[in-house]
Amino acid sequence: MSAEQVDVSHHTKISELGQRILHGGDISREEALWLFELENASDIFDLIAWANRIREHFKGNKIHLCSIVNAKAGNCSENCSFCAQSSFHQTGSPKYGFVDPEPVMEAAEEAKQHNVTAVGLVAAWKGLNEGPMLDEVCDRIKELKASGKTRPDASLGIIKSQNVANRLKEAGLECYGHNLESSKRFFPSHCTTHTYEDRIQTIHFLKNAGIKICSGGIIGMGEAREDRRDLAFALKEIGANVVPINILNPIKGTPYENNPPLPPLEILKTIACFRFILPRQEIMIAGGRTVNLRDMQSMVFAAGASALMVGNYLTTLNQPVEKDLQMLKDLGLDPNWDKHDFSDQLEPQPISFRSRQTTPVPA
Ligand code: SF4
Repeated sequence: MSAEQVDVSHHTKISELGQRILHGGDISREEALWLFELENASDIFDLIAWANRIREHFKGNKIHLCSIVNAKAGNCSENCSFCAQSSFHQTGSPKYGFVDPEPVMEAAEEAKQHNVTAVGLVAAWKGLNEGPMLDEVCDRIKELKASGKTRPDASLGIIKSQNVANRLKEAGLECYGHNLESSKRFFPSHCTTHTYEDRIQTIHFLKNAGIKICSGGIIGMGEAREDRRDLAFALKEIGANVVPINILNPIKGTPYENNPPLPPLEILKTIACFRFILPRQEIMIAGGRTVNLRDMQSMVFAAGASALMVGNYLTTLNQPVEKDLQMLKDLGLDPNWDKHDFSDQLEPQPISFRSRQTTPVPA
């Protein structure tokens, strides 16, 4: 293609949107959808370059690492189509009751050794009510907190009362994982045993209790780009602090076992669009990155990610933590973040642009 045939209008528009965000502005829903719908690889790489600038501006070179412990596995009463732990699907995924203190402490020790900021207790059940199980959960959180080795997080499903959220806060819980999973429109396509509104209500209880919110979703379930755009704006609206992006890893025995994988460039573009919409949030790449991105995993940071789920996922394997740490080192990124209190998400930061002497492009 000759220089005369290159259409730079997309390049210019992406730059204008990127500069607006660096100046503390926002993009509209229409502008966001335009970004999600970019198809040309050169345009997508322009978008990625701007997402990288935005990440660097708001996050520097810090990368927030999290890990999880599967605190109660399998036999879940819910019918989420992507999930190996649902009792509706025959997947051969492990099944066991709520964990004893020892495996949780082992995970905390491992997290400390690898500079992992937080360990989340994740339970496969519909939700948490008042009663003996809440007492046991609170004991595990207190033990994690008292160890001083890591930030205690949890993902324990739907919460039906303010008191449950308050009890978790009193036990020392700092951040709760509760994904919206997809847009409000698409949600009933993958779950009918509870609603999108149940999830929003849970998040309200948690926020009222002063607990930080880790909430994101899964891409690759068959949703439209518009659904991904709507998910990102919903997460902005609820004030999510950490936004995990999972990429569907189709599990045999689930309704999504034959879903076609998303192309890696589509995944990177989605991450970049989330960074444009959520410039100050931790955008965390979680499940499905190894299987879907393969050799392109390291590009998630250029695309705007500022956090990484390390160690094994709930039902699938990840690459070893040491390999992830080496990847960050090679990229000049720093996972050593002792105490991440999310204060960097509050205040807009000033920025000034230097105008550069540009060299005229020869005709
Ligand atoms: S995603 Fe959570 S609520 Fe849904 S089936 Fe799996 S464990 Fe249960």
